[in-house]
Amino acid sequence: MPKSAAEILLPRTYKEIWKRGEEYVDKGKVETDKKFAAEDKVKAYVHGKEKYTVVLQLTKTGVIKQCDCAYSLGGPLSRPACKHMVAAAIYWDEARRINRPSKKDISSHTIAPAPISRQGIINLFKNPLKADLDKVRIVSEYSAWSPQPHARLPNSPKINSDSRKPLKIIEVKKAMLEMEKWTRRSLYDQYFCAGEMSAAFCELLDTIKKRMDRTEPREIILIMALCVAWFYGKFNRLIDGIEGVWIFPPVRIGSIVSILLKRYPRQPAWKEFRAVVRIAGERAGQKNLGAKAIADWVKERLKINH
Ligand SMILES: [Zn+2]
Repeated sequence: MPKSAAEILLPRTYKEIWKRGEEYVDKGKVETDKKFAAEDKVKAYVHGKEKYTVVLQLTKTGVIKQCDCAYSLGGPLSRPACKHMVAAAIYWDEARRINRPSKKDISSHTIAPAPISRQGIINLFKNPLKADLDKVRIVSEYSAWSPQPHARLPNSPKINSDSRKPLKIIEVKKAMLEMEKWTRRSLYDQYFCAGEMSAAFCELLDTIKKRMDRTEPREIILIMALCVAWFYGKFNRLIDGIEGVWIFPPVRIGSIVSILLKRYPRQPAWKEFRAVVRIAGERAGQKNLGAKAIADWVKERLKINH
């Protein structure tokens, strides 16, 4: 008797995702690559917004699953199945005359809903500046069917939050170094800790904002340049931000910088600021992460129907 791929995938999938996978099969959107046929392995193409390639391989203990959609690409193997994988599994099973799981099986074997609802996640991204940082901290876990044990990071790096004190660039550098040290903890996980890292960077930026009124114009502008350089050069490399949690700090940076631009339009330090931002962006191989780029990204993000 051939093994059912769907049965193996069921406990690795959210119920809502399962239904979307079934829809693809029912609409005839799946085909398999005949050249690739093997008893324990399948390569399938699923026609969604684009054509996605799925590879499923049954093993003694489970399944190795791959898909090149944005939801799955680059994520850990423990990530729950995407709708394309579900579609491929059901289609492959049916071609081998294995019935698809019943409604009852789907209800009882799929993954329980996550601690934040899908809508909750969407709301975070709709207004990233106002996002509840406690929710940002757990976004990464939302997508994992089996969250791995990972380091619990502090909510914020240590920094004086007294708004009456002028801020010095060295304090911000120290806070960043502290965060870099967190990532050397043995249970630090680039994926599962990404939300906590992002929220902590936001807390740091909120402290900067609180103290900016008393800070020398040149100093605060250079602090913001440092934040941009650190974002590109370190932060983005220390996390796996595939769930989009990288978005929250740059939105805050953008908001602070626009206040400062209005306040000190002629401050010569802007020249240095622009140079730092340009070089940091180029080194990271990215275009300048301006407000428009972020708004476009958020819009794109909200279109993903997972
Ligand atoms: Zn996929």
